[in-house]
Amino acid sequence: MRKKLLAANWKMNLVPTEARALIAGLRAEIDRDSAALAGDREVMIAPPSIMIPAVAQALAGSSIMLGAQNMHFDDKGAFTGEISPPMLKSYGVTHVILGHSEHRHVFGESDELINKKVLAALKHRIIPILCVGETHEEHDAGRALEVVLRQLERGLEGVSHEAIGGMMLAYEPVWAIGSGRTATPAQAESIHGALRGVILERYDRQRADLVRILYGGSVTADNVDSLISKPDIDGALVGGASLKADSFARIVKARTH
Ligand code: PEP
Repeated sequence: MRKKLLAANWKMNLVPTEARALIAGLRAEIDRDSAALAGDREVMIAPPSIMIPAVAQALAGSSIMLGAQNMHFDDKGAFTGEISPPMLKSYGVTHVILGHSEHRHVFGESDELINKKVLAALKHRIIPILCVGETHEEHDAGRALEVVLRQLERGLEGVSHEAIGGMMLAYEPVWAIGSGRTATPAQAESIHGALRGVILERYDRQRADLVRILYGGSVTADNVDSLISKPDIDGALVGGASLKADSFARIVKARTH
């Protein structure tokens, strides 16, 4: 059985004092209801990179895992402003979000660059969460599947049979991110099934069953249950609703079936 992952993407929000307060509130909620983390789910928080040390400290002794929102593909060098995989590893980062739509569309990251980052994360044993998703225009033109499958194929270039089990995917329709519009559970499930189909075709049944595919795009405490109870939706990547302890705690405790 694939464990559900409830992952917070704080984006460019909060300062360390606010982050510590949020984590304290979240830990109080989750620790009070220990069934919330009972075996069938995992929780991860991806803060802005400058807050990774403070968040690592605030999460000490917790089962909540630490993620990063992005990274460079090289170990070190003349890349002003960038963060390397070894830097992330040194703070206990276990996951990295790659190919987020804001990086694809605001900062112009290409499939090729994202693929390099995926390979680098796998090399350093950081779990890449490769995000794919179609824009509003692509969605309306009926091209969602074509777009996400192309992003997936390119993102997986050179990922071996051994490595694929160490990564995750996230379907994040661009029109749903931060917009309050969510894909219906049926729409998301159908795209997730197609993404899993690519893993099956390129690798095998065992790997296809192993790789977790998260949904992201305006997930809230009110819609999370219906999304993550679908068999191919293995959790949620949550932006806005992860910025308050009570709403993210409710998401963490979502009904999974
Ligand atoms: C995201 O940033 O990955 C995201 C899904 O944001 P939101 O939940 O705010 O739509």
